[in-house]
Amino acid sequence: MSTLLNADLHCHSLVSDGTLSPEELAARAHANGVQLWALTDHDEVGGQHRARAAAHALGLDYLTGVEISVTFLNATVHIVGLGFDPDDPQLVRGLEATRGGRGERAQQIARQLAQVGIHGAYEGALRYVGNPELISRTHFARHLVESGVCSDTSEVFRRFLTEGNPGYVPHRWASLGDAVRWIREAGGMAVIAHPARYRFSPTEEYALFSEFRQHGGQGVEVVTGSHAPSEYPVYAAMAQEFGLAASRGSDFHGPGESHTDLGALPDLPGQLTPVWELLEHRILRAPAAPAPSVH
Ligand code: AMP
Ligand code: MN
Ligand code: MN
Ligand code: MN
Repeated sequence: MSTLLNADLHCHSLVSDGTLSPEELAARAHANGVQLWALTDHDEVGGQHRARAAAHALGLDYLTGVEISVTFLNATVHIVGLGFDPDDPQLVRGLEATRGGRGERAQQIARQLAQVGIHGAYEGALRYVGNPELISRTHFARHLVESGVCSDTSEVFRRFLTEGNPGYVPHRWASLGDAVRWIREAGGMAVIAHPARYRFSPTEEYALFSEFRQHGGQGVEVVTGSHAPSEYPVYAAMAQEFGLAASRGSDFHGPGESHTDLGALPDLPGQLTPVWELLEHRILRAPAAPAPSVH
C-alpha cells in the first residue's frame, strides 16, 4: 500500500478529551477526504464500536485505536495502539487501571489551583467531561479559558497544569512494557505518539526508541498535528534508523481548539513503510456500497 493514503490515525472524542462524539468525528473525517480512520481516545476503548459503526455507515475503512498514557524516565509518554481487539480482557483491564487515579488527581489539581486563587476548578472542569472516568488536564484547560483566566489552551499549559506551575500533579501511568504488551497481545501494533513533544535529551530519546523496540513496538508517528512540519524529517530519519513503520494523524480534539483538522496533513515521506501496510489484515473494511440497480 502506498504512503499516499489519506489516513488519520490519531484523534479524540467525548469519550476522552475531545469535544465531538465518535459519530461527529466519523462524519468530519469522511467529509475531509480521510480514507482510513482510527479514533484514539486516551486510556479508553469505550468509543471503538460506535466509531467503527459510524465509519462503515459512511463507507470509511476503520482501524481500532487508543492512546495509552505511560510513565518513562519520570516523564509522560503516549503510546498509540492500532488494529487491536477492543474487547481483549487484558487490554481492557490494563486501561481501567491506567484511568484509575484520574479522579483523585483532578481533586489535587483543583486544590493547587485554589491555592493561587482559582476556586471551583474541579466543578468547572467536570462540566466539560463526557466520560466521568476520564477527567483530564484538557478539561481544566477548557474551564480556565471559558472562565477568562487564560485566553487560550496554550496559555493555560504555559502558566498552569505543567511542571513547575500551579496545578501540576505528577502521576504514575502505565509502564512502557505493559502498554506495548497489552496492545500486541490484543493483536495490534504499538506506535510512539508525537515523539517531538517529549523534552528528552538525545540519550533519553534513544532509550525510549530502543526500549520500545525491545518490547515489540513497531511504529512511530512521523506526520502529526502535534509536530511542527520541520520535525517531520527528523522523525522520518528516526523511523528508518530504528526500523519502525511510520504513522500519520491529526491529534484532532475539536473545532476551534485544534489547529490541524482531521485528514489535513501532508503525505508520509515516500521512503517510509506506512503502519497501514503492516496492519493490512487488521483494517476493518467498510461494506461495499450496494451496486446501483439496473432496470
Ligand atoms: P492528561 O492526560 O490529563 O495529563 O492530559 C493530557 C492532555 O492535555 C493531552 O492529551 C492534550 O490534549 C492536552 N495538552 C497537554 N499539553 C498541552 C499543550 N501544551 N497544549 C495544548 N494541550 C495540551
Ligand atoms: Mn488529549
Ligand atoms: Mn498525546
Ligand atoms: Mn492525542
